[in-house]
Amino acid sequence: MTKVCDWCRGEFEPLANNEHAQRFCHRSCKQQFERAARSWVHKAITNGSMSLDALKNGIVGKRVFPTSHDVRASELLAGLLAVNSPAWQTLAEAMTQQQFDALKDWSTRGRPQRS
Ligand SMILES: [Zn+2]
Repeated sequence: MTKVCDWCRGEFEPLANNEHAQRFCHRSCKQQFERAARSWVHKAITNGSMSLDALKNGIVGKRVFPTSHDVRASELLAGLLAVNSPAWQTLAEAMTQQQFDALKDWSTRGRPQRS
């Protein structure tokens, strides 16, 4: 039965004695996939779009990357905070310490990146 390689999208005949579902046409495609995956995860952790905890704990299926809604909300908040208004002082005073710390953390550690 012909399959399509997950990496190069080329068609191939899986090895007959392969117990595991063969996903790549050749070892070189599997190696390219593994190199790219390592590099991708490294970049995601370095730029803060993926947490090290998610990697350590093998969290899959949960949201570890910001969605486009997260990015839009983040850009909206950044735009609002750039408005020079005395209202921000009032707002800061009305915030809980936890909210204030979270906002400070967001503004210093970085915001969701568009991917
Ligand atoms: Zn291939």
